[in-house]
Amino acid sequence: MRTIAAMFLALTAALAGLAGAQASDITAVRFGEHEGHTRIVIETRTPVQSRAHTLSEPAPRLVVSFEDASWSVDGLDGGAGFGAGLVGVFRFDAAASHPRLVFTLTGPASIRQQMSLDPAGGGYRTVIDVEPVSAAAFASVSGFPQAPATLTELVVRDAGIDFTPAGCERIRVVIDPGHGGRDPGALARFGGMHEAGIALAAGLQLRDILNETGRYEVIMTRDRDVYVSLEDRVRIARQARADLFISLHADSAGGNAGPSGATIYSMNARAENRARSRAINEGNWVDVNRTEEVSRILVEMAISNKRSQSELFAEALRTEVGRTANLWRSTPMEANYAVLTDAEIPAVLFEMGFMTNREDSRRLNDVRERRRLMQAAAAAIDSHFSGCRAPGRTYWASGGSPASGASAR
Ligand SMILES: [Zn+2]
Repeated sequence: MRTIAAMFLALTAALAGLAGAQASDITAVRFGEHEGHTRIVIETRTPVQSRAHTLSEPAPRLVVSFEDASWSVDGLDGGAGFGAGLVGVFRFDAAASHPRLVFTLTGPASIRQQMSLDPAGGGYRTVIDVEPVSAAAFASVSGFPQAPATLTELVVRDAGIDFTPAGCERIRVVIDPGHGGRDPGALARFGGMHEAGIALAAGLQLRDILNETGRYEVIMTRDRDVYVSLEDRVRIARQARADLFISLHADSAGGNAGPSGATIYSMNARAENRARSRAINEGNWVDVNRTEEVSRILVEMAISNKRSQSELFAEALRTEVGRTANLWRSTPMEANYAVLTDAEIPAVLFEMGFMTNREDSRRLNDVRERRRLMQAAAAAIDSHFSGCRAPGRTYWASGGSPASGASAR
């Protein structure tokens, strides 16, 4: 578990007598990209006391909290902006018990040094240098110094978004059997079903296994041999406000009968770009009460949440499937598949084996072997949602009922 060895920072005010007397205005936030580190400079009108720590979940970020501060940055009225280097986006939260600046990090990073500097032509400067570190090092130094609201709560409260964490009793899982109808997918090479038939049979088995637990609300993108467009599959998941989307497929290696085993994909950077433009173009995040900039930042936060949740689930799925079947690729795999391009719903694409491999094909066509594989998938879903520690439904673009959420296309 995370240690509470957070990197504390107690910046002494240069003029101690003034500290805490009144809120100090933050007048600028700047970034400098340097060899090996990113410098964050926070400028204030008067000296300010602050402390900084990093958090690893659900996504890497740096939190700087102030004894007291208010936001007064020209051109960034929404209290949010884009960073540089190791900082993706940042956002000021005045509603916390101590006002804070939250910087999303593009990867694991630690605080190398922090300084408090007197004005040199501008305001008082709080300087924090962050440098990239290994994921293990990051996890060991990251943690809450106390028990504050989560980042999600902070952002969501401020933006007035409907925040509904996945309830432990009603986790919504969308099962997406690939292909169908006029699209058979990879053809049967060694007899038995085409890919579409295998994906459907597996999907129905997984549905039944999940339904038996009573823990999930299962939604199928198709439950018979019909064609469903990729766009509609994503739409169904959005309408359901899914906590998890799992797409089932079987691979093909063309004329090569050699490759065998399962592969699990989550979205890659290109899919992420598609998710980003989809979210922005569809207007899901546009709100009259929100500046465009804040909308964009919320999209970034949603995508970053989706990414980490998808990767966590992919890891759980690899672990469980690896116990019962052979993996073609045992390392994290990413791809630009259309069904992975929603900005919010954690999603993986599960290639259950190769249609072009004789043994894989036999197993995929065998009802018992297939059930064993789907039991592994169900075990991964159980472990992903164990203790409901990984709510997927974290940031929703539009509030209200699932129906109104679905109207945002
Ligand atoms: Zn396929």
